[in-house]
Amino acid sequence: MPPPVFRFAPSPNGFLHLGHACSALLNFDRARDTGGRLLLRIEDIDATRCRPEFEAAIYEDLAWLGIVWETPVRRQSEHLADYRAALDSLTTLGLVYPCFESRAEITKLVAQREASGPWPRDPDGAPLYPGTAKSLSPSKRAQLIASGAPYALRLDMDAACRRVSRLAWTELGEGPDGEHGTVSAQPQAWGDVILARKETPTSYHLAVVVDDALQDVSEVVRGQDLFHATSVHALLQALLGLPVPDYRHHPLIRDAAGQKLAKSSRATGLRELRAGGATPADIRRLVGLA
Ligand code: GLU
Repeated sequence: MPPPVFRFAPSPNGFLHLGHACSALLNFDRARDTGGRLLLRIEDIDATRCRPEFEAAIYEDLAWLGIVWETPVRRQSEHLADYRAALDSLTTLGLVYPCFESRAEITKLVAQREASGPWPRDPDGAPLYPGTAKSLSPSKRAQLIASGAPYALRLDMDAACRRVSRLAWTELGEGPDGEHGTVSAQPQAWGDVILARKETPTSYHLAVVVDDALQDVSEVVRGQDLFHATSVHALLQALLGLPVPDYRHHPLIRDAAGQKLAKSSRATGLRELRAGGATPADIRRLVGLA
């Protein structure tokens, strides 16, 4: 049996906080306790929000915590061809369509529908995309693309779900409602998710499943805020013929007011805590891993 493979996969769009420290330390401890490998992946596909100084800070903060990871580090921005290949497979299956509406136009479309009754929201609370662009004719699509209009590529969720049978994953941690063990995936709850954009051949969902498979990740340890997204990941894994790792979602670290931590919050930033005299052992205590 090859050793288990873990990964910590931060996005360099801000400084790390206690929530990241919790995920990173849990991954590190699991790798150490199981004789496994720990990878670090930089999820930097959003060029508008990711910055080199945040990436440099990630390496520095993790090293300060005492975490050791394998090199070279995988930076998603250097592997766009891998995501494009996965997107092409889904396109060949007829499961991808372009959507040309702006965010504001979608908000308007949803408001129109909500005028005549409740409209479904995804597990993160955002209204589902109404699917309007699915009915555009091939010639209209070609014309809009040729005109240079921006677009997002969405997964046709109904068609995708028709192609797969029962989807499930093994949850070693727990979901927000105590889900544990074999969890059945409910990707329909997310509607027609975005898989890529005109300028970027991937989204978070697509890149994460491609990378976890390419890197042989066997156990994904991450925060509970991504528990419901795992349903989309299980669907993409099935469609792309990729292995399904085990998942271990951990409860989120919350601030004194019970809110999820933000990258902008100074009180719980690792840099601020370190500057205030905290030691790595203090950080372990603060995230409940002493
Ligand atoms: N890059 C994601 C984040 O920083 C985490 C992705 C994952 O662990 O699957 O929230």
